[in-house]
Amino acid sequence: MKTIFLIIITLSLISCSQSQDTSTSPEKKDSKMIQDRIAQFIPVDIKYDTTLLTDKDKIVLKKLYLASKIMDDIFLNQVYSKNEEIKNKLRSSDNIPSQLQLEYFNMMAGPFDRLENDEPFIGNEPKPLGANFYPEDMIREEFTGWIKNHPEDEKYFTSEFTVIRRSGEKLIAIPYSEYYKDKLTEAANLLREAADQCNNESLKNYLNLRAKAFETNDYFESDLAWMDVKDNLIEVVIGPYEVYEDGLFNYKASFESFLTLKDSAESKKLEIFGKYLNEMERNLPLEEKYKNFSRGSESPIVVVNQVYNAGDSKAGVQTLAFNLPNDERVRNVKGSKKVMLKNIHEAKFEKLLLPIAELVLDKSQLKFVTFDAFFNHTLMHEMSHGIGPGFIEVNGVKTEVKKELKETYSTLEECKADILGMFNNIFMINQKIYPTEFEQQLWVTFLAGVFRSVRFGIGEAHGGGNAIIFNYLLEKNAYQFDEANKTVKVNFETIYSSLEELANIVLTIQAAGDYQQAKQFIERYAVNSDVINTLREKISHLPIDIRPVFQIDYEQHKN
Ligand code: ZN
Repeated sequence: MKTIFLIIITLSLISCSQSQDTSTSPEKKDSKMIQDRIAQFIPVDIKYDTTLLTDKDKIVLKKLYLASKIMDDIFLNQVYSKNEEIKNKLRSSDNIPSQLQLEYFNMMAGPFDRLENDEPFIGNEPKPLGANFYPEDMIREEFTGWIKNHPEDEKYFTSEFTVIRRSGEKLIAIPYSEYYKDKLTEAANLLREAADQCNNESLKNYLNLRAKAFETNDYFESDLAWMDVKDNLIEVVIGPYEVYEDGLFNYKASFESFLTLKDSAESKKLEIFGKYLNEMERNLPLEEKYKNFSRGSESPIVVVNQVYNAGDSKAGVQTLAFNLPNDERVRNVKGSKKVMLKNIHEAKFEKLLLPIAELVLDKSQLKFVTFDAFFNHTLMHEMSHGIGPGFIEVNGVKTEVKKELKETYSTLEECKADILGMFNNIFMINQKIYPTEFEQQLWVTFLAGVFRSVRFGIGEAHGGGNAIIFNYLLEKNAYQFDEANKTVKVNFETIYSSLEELANIVLTIQAAGDYQQAKQFIERYAVNSDVINTLREKISHLPIDIRPVFQIDYEQHKN
């Protein structure tokens, strides 16, 4: 990983010298374009506390790191059939344009820019919609037609864990365990070697079952085992999970891994929150008849520090928290586990949120922007997804908020979680779990965070939810815009009552399952208002995301 440091240093030198270069040869223009794209991501060292680890833990961690590297390789193949060829070509060339391309290729896991709707930045070929999960020339109708004529194939063809290929005139489904056999066997061996050194029985069990799943293609049992991992320091999830990369059908799962160490002190905090869930529900600004005290199985939340991540989870924008597994059968039996990546929060706070705050906030309130407020809001946001209306009754018929609100659901649900993230943290202050001084930090830090979220677009649920909150509170004078300085601030006098009002509106729309009202509300408030546009413009030059530089890469390359 020393090499990684060197590359970053050389590139920043190049960018300094080239920014004064007025030459416009096509090659230089191209390099400048790639440099600018790379510069959208600010490098951050992802360190971890080696003193927490015993000698055996260190071996386990190393084996899991090596297995994760294999997830990087498999994912690269899943994204695009020509990825390996392109990468080898770039690697063998030592001119600067190729090195820059290779660097961005590695960040994007392929020649397509994930920040620019997958526009190619090497060559001109567009990204196949079905990535490398299907034959590149196959269109949707061919696949659905095949299933219609061969209903017995449906289960294997739509499975998350098969790739579709041509065999003469036919389409065939090949299980991952066969298609990626060499790599998965290697990964399975590493997981078993890690399990051998593992003192924690529940983790050992997960690793052994996951190794078996790589060979049998059946992930169910190991997903259950992951839910049961407890009293562990090393928290790892590895395998095929999310299906977003499959732009054709969202069927096929991409390989990834998160290798992390659990933060017990922070995880404890969540246990305290968990005990207040019913009281939070009782405290909601919502008519009594709509309150929901019959929530199902509990979903554990753990706080961890990331050591390494691989594959799908590393390409493009970095994940702050995840909620797995996705298998509904596991969710029915056990629920799901939310994992919060604390050091990634720290990095995004320092490198993204603080610089935004400095530009958009009134100077007098800058001092209230704190990491604790940022992190606790995310924690409470996640908890708050678990309160409020879920199963509801509309015109005497039992239904779900999700079904009734259709495409408006995600935006309103994210909006609710952000509102209640603040509302319930204030509740915890009233319960004396937090000190009173925390209140101003919560309000102001959230306001700065609005501008981190709306940058990803208000069409996206989180961005839209944040725009609603901002525009509503601005209209109520709970946020105030300074025309002269082009900054915003919180009006501490009125913010709580205005937020309570907004919470009541959103929760009541959900409880009533009122689709029309949801639509009107979103049309009115989830917009890029003049103030949002002015402030977005002001921060447009700031980095979009972080770029992890892993300590463990460095250590392992040294050895
Ligand atoms: Zn959320």
